[in-house]
Parts: sequence; structure tokens; C-alpha cells
Amino acid sequence: MAIIHKATPRVQSLNKHWYDGAVERIDMLRLDEIHPVISGNKWYKLKYNIEQILLNGYKGVLTFGGGYSNHLIATAAAAKEYNIDAVGIVRGQELARNLSPTLLHCKELGMELVFISRKQYAEKTSEHYLNTLQNQYPDLYIVAEGGANDWGRIGAGEIGQMVSNDYTHICVSVGTGTTMAGICNETECTVIGYAPMKGGQYLKETLKEWGAKGDFEVHDQWHFGGFGKHQPELISFINDFYKINQIPLDIVYTGKMMFGVRAQISAGIFSNSAKVLCIHTGGLQGNISVAEQLDF
Ligand SMILES: *Cc1c(COP(=O)(O)O)cnc(C)c1O
Repeated sequence: MAIIHKATPRVQSLNKHWYDGAVERIDMLRLDEIHPVISGNKWYKLKYNIEQILLNGYKGVLTFGGGYSNHLIATAAAAKEYNIDAVGIVRGQELARNLSPTLLHCKELGMELVFISRKQYAEKTSEHYLNTLQNQYPDLYIVAEGGANDWGRIGAGEIGQMVSNDYTHICVSVGTGTTMAGICNETECTVIGYAPMKGGQYLKETLKEWGAKGDFEVHDQWHFGGFGKHQPELISFINDFYKINQIPLDIVYTGKMMFGVRAQISAGIFSNSAKVLCIHTGGLQGNISVAEQLDF
């Protein structure tokens, strides 16, 4: 059963002025352009999960996310495209009365939203809770939050396979670490992860537990106050980045990553022969809350 082919992403070179010619080159893999809603890395993490659903006769998918989850909305859109059911388990009962733009869009795409308490949500990986959900929804295939399962990592590995061996470094933003783990397994490049939350160093351990191969590192100092938080400095950085490179970044993930890349270039972390590929993992739907502050 064939999975719909998504457009092959393009590689776009950054303007040399942005990095002062301090390295050989910096390019960006524009995964944000592959689909208007199933954006960026989310499609790669979902594709083999959806294939499992189609191959094994499940009626649909059940997965987890917060009020602004790019994964939930990508799952809702993919489910609609493949004509399967979708249930989203949402963190926080209070959100039911006040749907975020992301959740509203999920609903419009036909996803059934189930709101649970934050305490219950913390059980999202417990065997007991997962068994309860599976009994409640016997026809649905359960995908972990963020698509963080084996199929997610295998699909994300295809991003690594796309990258030419000519690059020395791959830069990617990290949430669950699924995308980065998949890429690490399929490349010879050094993979640098940028965590958008406080205390993101634990992700290095997660990657090791998942058996991520090769040379990789995780940085967590460019979190701008924590996950989903931002500051005026980040907004103006994103606007400047757009002006010089014509590439829109999102405030949750890729904006913070590129801020980190820029800081590392200034600090002389990369040698002048480095050839760097930054992965644009998408997430632009999350910019809606700051739309009036962005110049694109
Ligand atoms: C979800 C997401 C990530 C994080 O991906 P993981 O595989 O969970 O690490 C990075 N960037 C964007 C734009 C995302 O939406």
C-alpha cells in the first residue's frame, strides 16, 4: 500500500553575509516546504506509522500532544489525507474550553480531541495507561507523543539519507530527539542538536538509550526562557534572518536553532572549512501567536 509521495525538499544556500564567510558554506534543507500542514520532520516520523495502520487494518491513529503541538496537527492532516480516524489526547483539561488555533485546526481536520489532566498526561508512556487506551480504542494504532517510536526514527532516518556526504555537520532542533536519532543513524556527519527547552542535556542520554550512532552533541543554552517561550531578541533575529536569506523560521524550534548556529559561528566553534547543513524542520504554523511581529 503506497504512501503518498511528498515533494522532494530543496536545499537552499544561506547568504554568505549571514555567516560572514566564516565557514565554507551553510545550506538549509527546506523540509518546511514539503506540505502545507504536515510540515517538516513530522511527515517523516509519521509515514511508516501510517503504513502500519494501512497494512494491519487499523481504522486510525491515536496520539498525544499539547495545545500547540506540531505533531498533533500533522497527524490530523495526515489522517485526513489517508482517510483514517484520528484521536488526539491533549495535555490539560482546561484547554477544552479555550481551543488554541492549533487545536481548532486539528478539529477542523476531523481529529477527535480528548482532554486529560496534566497528571494523567504524565502517564502517557505507562503500560497501564496505554493498555487502558487500547481497550477503549481497539481499532486505533497508538503512536507515542511526538512520533517518538521505532517507525518514527526509521522514517526520520530518511532525512539523514538525503544529506550528501559532502557536508561536515548537520544541525537540527530537538524535541523528543526522534528526528535527531534517525538522522544520526544514517549519516557520517557530526550531528549537532539544539534543544529549545531548559535542561535539554538529558536528550543526549535519550539518544544514547535509543542507540543513536556516530558523532553527536546536544546544546541547550539557547532556550530563551524555556519551551515555547520567546523574547524580543529572538523575534528580531528571525526577522533579520528572513530579510537576508528569505527563509521563514519558527519561534519554537528552528529560530532558536539558527540563533545557536550563529552564536557558535561567532565563537569560532566551526572551522573555516566546515560545510554545514541545517535542517528546517518546519513548525511555521506555531508562528500564528506572533504573526503581527514578524515581517513575513
Ligand atoms: C517536532 C519538531 C521538532 C522536534 O522533533 P523531534 O523529533 O521530536 O526531536 C523540531 N522542529 C520542529 C519545527 C518541530 O515541529
